[in-house]
Amino acid sequence: SSPYLQIRDLTRTYEMSSGLLGLNRSAVHALNGISLDIMRGETLGLVGESGCGKSTLARLLMRLEAPSSGNIYLEGQSLWSQDPRFIDALPHKIQMIFQDPFSSLNPRRRVQSTIAEALTVQGMPRAERAERVQKLLALVGLRPEHATRYPHEFSGGQRQRIAIARALAPRPACIICDEAVSALDVSIQAQVINLLRDLQERLGLTYVFISHDLAVIRAMSTRIAVMYFGQLMELSPAQELYDRPLHPYTQALLKAIPIPDPKANRFALHLGGELPSPFLLPSGCPFHPRCPKALPICKEEHPGWKEISPGHSVSCHLY
Ligand code: SF4
Ligand code: MG
Repeated sequence: SSPYLQIRDLTRTYEMSSGLLGLNRSAVHALNGISLDIMRGETLGLVGESGCGKSTLARLLMRLEAPSSGNIYLEGQSLWSQDPRFIDALPHKIQMIFQDPFSSLNPRRRVQSTIAEALTVQGMPRAERAERVQKLLALVGLRPEHATRYPHEFSGGQRQRIAIARALAPRPACIICDEAVSALDVSIQAQVINLLRDLQERLGLTYVFISHDLAVIRAMSTRIAVMYFGQLMELSPAQELYDRPLHPYTQALLKAIPIPDPKANRFALHLGGELPSPFLLPSGCPFHPRCPKALPICKEEHPGWKEISPGHSVSCHLY
């Protein structure tokens, strides 16, 4: 099948203050030459530490920002196409679910009006809207009477179900989940993951599932992309990444102990060194200052991108 989304050489830089008194302006590479296909009906897991560019990629996929260079194609058409028909249809193509459902839900709005927002924009008649809201509530495992309640009357897991119902309302083909279960307790996480998997099967959804948590990524993904410093380090079928991780960074992530506070969104990595300054993209392989297997060439030359076995690619001089 042909890819639903094609990410091509995507770069996003930000101008930021740095140096003494913040007087220097420098460019931070949030994304640095990402190329990736997302297939219809799959779950592409995106994993990496905080600041690796995962959320920047999500914002670009949602068209909330434009790339500095490169492009994303949706069914072959540039996301930044000016064609008004394409732009109007985008809510039916891609929706997003965020980490914190409480801050993404308007506290003064009843659940029904939050879920129906996109339907109202579409001009769907009131009675039809109410019926659709009831169907969506049932789809995400909420009850009919929940429609007239306010977000504060729900638990964290239920609020994430409301956010899922809102995302599903325009019947999107693809949903971007950015740390969608990271703020939830582990038992609630499992319920929401099961719901997302069930919805995918019933509705044929495509997911881009972003998380710093490899256990969550494993439970969801068909394929996994490992990101570091705005670049892809490894791309692999999900199971194979856990059985045969190739990249030293992936290997370190798999050995990492997640810090219990989910909001910390950080790993305790079994690695020397710290995340390099975002202002100073290392020469050669971006991971070389922390890599336990670094070779002399790693400092000098970027390793490029090599397919090692079908669907399993890596950016590393060891291969
Ligand atoms: Fe380590 Fe070199 Fe591979 Fe980079 S290219 S991950 S520094 S071995
Ligand atoms: Mg993030």
